Amino acid sequence: MIVGIDLGTTNSLIGTLEKGRPKLFKGEDGSPLIPSIIEFHETEGTRVGILAKKAQTENISRTIYSAKRFMGRGLSDVTQWIKLLPFDFSHSTEQLIRFTVGSKSYTPMEIGSLVLKKLKTLAEKETGQIVDKAVITVPAYFNDAQRQATKFAGELAGLEVVRIVNEPTAACLAYGLQKKTFGNIAVFDLGGGTFDISILRVADGVFEVLATNGNTALGGDDLDHAIAEKIAEKILSATGIDPLLEKSSQAILIHEAEKLKRQLSESEMVTWTWADSPSITFNITRTEIENWIRPIVERAKEPCLQCLKDANLKPNQITDAILVGGSTRVPLVKKLVQELFLREPIATINPDEVVAIGAAVQANILNGQISGMLLLDVIPLSLGIETMGGVVGKIIHRNSTIPISASETYSTYVDGQVSVDIHVVQGERELVKDNRSLSRFQLKGLPPLPAGIPKIEVEFIVDANGILNVKATELRTATCASVCVNPSYGLTDTEVEKMLFDSFENAEADFEDRFLIESKIEADSLIRATQKALLTGQALVDSNETLQIEKSLMKLQEASSGKDRKLIKAHIDELTENTKHMAELLLNQAVREALKGKNLGDTP
Ligand code: AMP
Repeated sequence: MIVGIDLGTTNSLIGTLEKGRPKLFKGEDGSPLIPSIIEFHETEGTRVGILAKKAQTENISRTIYSAKRFMGRGLSDVTQWIKLLPFDFSHSTEQLIRFTVGSKSYTPMEIGSLVLKKLKTLAEKETGQIVDKAVITVPAYFNDAQRQATKFAGELAGLEVVRIVNEPTAACLAYGLQKKTFGNIAVFDLGGGTFDISILRVADGVFEVLATNGNTALGGDDLDHAIAEKIAEKILSATGIDPLLEKSSQAILIHEAEKLKRQLSESEMVTWTWADSPSITFNITRTEIENWIRPIVERAKEPCLQCLKDANLKPNQITDAILVGGSTRVPLVKKLVQELFLREPIATINPDEVVAIGAAVQANILNGQISGMLLLDVIPLSLGIETMGGVVGKIIHRNSTIPISASETYSTYVDGQVSVDIHVVQGERELVKDNRSLSRFQLKGLPPLPAGIPKIEVEFIVDANGILNVKATELRTATCASVCVNPSYGLTDTEVEKMLFDSFENAEADFEDRFLIESKIEADSLIRATQKALLTGQALVDSNETLQIEKSLMKLQEASSGKDRKLIKAHIDELTENTKHMAELLLNQAVREALKGKNLGDTP
């Protein structure tokens, strides 16, 4: 049996398919939502899930939750959450985060593995079978380090992670169960703290992710804060007391706002009482809170439009819109999805369970129990290597379907070079400095040949889990070096978004920078080649021609120290033209040298 697991920030779920129908395993309280919370009790051992939930308020210093936010990240990536969460972190110099509990410390992977172990035990108890293989879902925006960390957490829990699947993709698969359709599906996932949008194409049971986008700082929590602020204003104007001044009443207010939000998802009006002294009662309507939360809900619009653009689709080409995440129960959110994709969204599967059900579907596809369905996922950011002048040579482009492999051939720049540094980068910008550095490694032992002669093939292989392997080979000598790109800390989701945003904003300027650098490299290489050629070529041409060549050479040298790309290009063309005759003579001479001592009959 391969199980499907939704390893969530707040809750996790585990499930399988029984006679083709989804089955989620339940926790001690009868719910399939297992809180992703661990309590390290002083004397009574470790508690996980609903048993640890109470400890969140009662044994604060020994209880860890929201560990998913820290998966595959370094301390510098998460400073904003460290302030908000009541845990102690070990501030070592290493990039890996550790939560401190008493005299011990745990990595986010270890915390994740304890949650996964709990899920595994629940499934084993209910089925009476050993569960040792799983499909685990991750947010579409998880980068390589975060996927690796999730996989590692699974292995620590004694689970072979047979596939990592993007959460929105899994949701789509869950619906694919009932509805094998042809079309383009938008998966709109708004949870407590994050928003993800994915567009997939479905044809004959094959799912292909066309594009993904999102906002990692948008979710139900933001709606709660907006509602809390407005009810605080009401309380202030009715009682003259500002409840936001007191930390304790602030927390109550946010809790009340969340309750109110849920009630108004079902009803048109709620009578609400602020129980503090003096107590006060209001009638609050759905229309009223919709006006309060509209600016926040509308922040989901831009990522959806960008995703449509990336998928190369118009809204009327979307055939289904699927809702995932608790916050899609808000009627205003449903209305927004309807407006964006011009159709009523589907939410017939519980939005809290749909991802886990999709993971179970994928598990059954992998173990061969479902046939005729295939999942094709994509990578969220382009991957490439640093080339001359700090320019990025993209090898695999953003939104490419995985698994994928691609290669490019490069050469050396200096005569006799015996090693090359390979710098792997991730991002959309043209220059290395604006992208994220993933890894560096060296290809050593190259034969000392003239510049440009070695053929170095750099191959990128992204597996079905979105994990990158890079291999560099010198093709003439078969010298080889490779790395599994496993950065010690990852890219924050905000960085991923910022990098995408910056690449759109700066596209034109980036290209100018890139062209300038490329022109300078071309000029530099032409100047060197001409200087070398003049050493012997000078004797073959008259002094006038040599003078012309030297003049153009100087003009190019001067231009290439400046920033005018067009001027550099013009002088490259001029020097190329002026050296054409000498180059021909040199070539003839080389051919004559090569043929010396041979009969014409020997030549092929
Ligand atoms: P998730 O991260 O998918 O579990 O979603 C949690 C978010 O969904 C929280 O912000 C909840 O307040 C919100 N949520 C759950 N049920 C409802 C509901 N009926 N109406 C509005 N929001 C809800």
